[in-house]
Amino acid sequence: MKVKMILPALTEAKSPFWRPIKYSLFPPLGLATLASFLWSSDEIVLVDEHVEELNYDDKPDLVVIQVYITNAFRAYKIADFYRSKGCYVILGGLHVTSLPNEASPHADSIFLGPAEQSFPEFLKDFRNKKPKKIYFSKERTIQGLLPIRRDLIKRHKYFVPNSISVTRGCPHSCDFCYKDAFFKGGKSFYTQRVDEALNEIEKLPGKHLYFLDDHLFANKRFASELFEGMNGMNRVFQGAATVETVINGDLLEKATKAGLRSLFVGFETLNNGNLKQSNKFHNIGKDYDLAIKRLHDNGVMINASFVFGLDSDNQDVFKRTVDWAVSKGITTATFHIATPYPETKFYEQMEKAGRILTKNWDLYDTRHVVFKTKNISPKDLKLGYDYAYKEFYKYKSIYKAAMQHKTLKHKIKHLSYTAGWKKFEPLWNFIIKTEGLKYARPFLEAVLSKIK
Ligand code: SF4
Repeated sequence: MKVKMILPALTEAKSPFWRPIKYSLFPPLGLATLASFLWSSDEIVLVDEHVEELNYDDKPDLVVIQVYITNAFRAYKIADFYRSKGCYVILGGLHVTSLPNEASPHADSIFLGPAEQSFPEFLKDFRNKKPKKIYFSKERTIQGLLPIRRDLIKRHKYFVPNSISVTRGCPHSCDFCYKDAFFKGGKSFYTQRVDEALNEIEKLPGKHLYFLDDHLFANKRFASELFEGMNGMNRVFQGAATVETVINGDLLEKATKAGLRSLFVGFETLNNGNLKQSNKFHNIGKDYDLAIKRLHDNGVMINASFVFGLDSDNQDVFKRTVDWAVSKGITTATFHIATPYPETKFYEQMEKAGRILTKNWDLYDTRHVVFKTKNISPKDLKLGYDYAYKEFYKYKSIYKAAMQHKTLKHKIKHLSYTAGWKKFEPLWNFIIKTEGLKYARPFLEAVLSKIK
């Protein structure tokens, strides 16, 4: 059987003139995971449009397309094209799960929620020529799976080919997060077996790893055993966790010992009203300063995430947030305009209140205002968002933030990481086009070296 697996991309990511590095970071692990359920005799082509052109001259038996909100319209076009050729097309992913009725007319079968159990069920039905229209799996596990088909991934096209995911979901329920919508109807947080995760890590070449898990510290026992097992593997890694799990217990120390060098932390807002509105109770009353101090004392750089435009925000939120982040020595920050994704509680609230401004999903990229804001006008919200990025990443701010650290090595690492990430886009563009990302990776590993 000929199978084509596609991750469609936005036009911006496909420009022949300009390739931002953020689109060449991680390979499509989800599709490579599903590929492991196919037979060795199947001919599989995996295409990630973020890093390569899609060839339309073929006629596979089965086309598998992963859909997220901002690639949805493009994904539907590709699906329609292959269906018109007589190929069997299946669609799955976050957006399909949120809006099955929208996706369904573009597919022969759709998949709701995680597909590690439903995809093998579909394959059996498909080979027996009795596929169903909708697949959904209530029973969920990622234990005992076959190894991910990493051989299908074109490693040289990614800066971080060693991305890995050892859990699914998250134990929390923030109202703006996709998580509840994607996992509804079944378990919404579960882990791999520790020995299987360690096995997968051991097989990855090189030194650097990036854990794509929403919350790597969420299951304390699993994380603790994972980090203990990673001791002596000579890895450096990055991941994500919450303020709460950084403050409490000794997971941070264990992670650092195993090679953690940078952590994505969802601070989201400095305003308790916004945290309450978002049901992000695990952040309320938590000592952000203590979390930052603990991370810095352990030599871990911080990638902080912030959301603008929630109902308790005023015009001063942009400057206040940037000043705070710089004064705390935050290494990199990702700012987002609050975005009510379909099927989330945030969306339900906004729709009920008549506050949704557009259903053009291309604009749901956290860079555009898509709902009626309360205390800030949509125009000022957009301007404030642009200001935050500009202000946080100007040389003066980068220098000031770097100087907050105690040791010279930490200061230099901060300067190199932030400047390397945000100030050398033309160089990244050149490296991507000349397929030289593997030569830049040792630089990343050096920047992520141990501080003490
Ligand atoms: S903690 Fe993060 S991943 Fe978990 S529900 Fe909240 S936003 Fe989503």
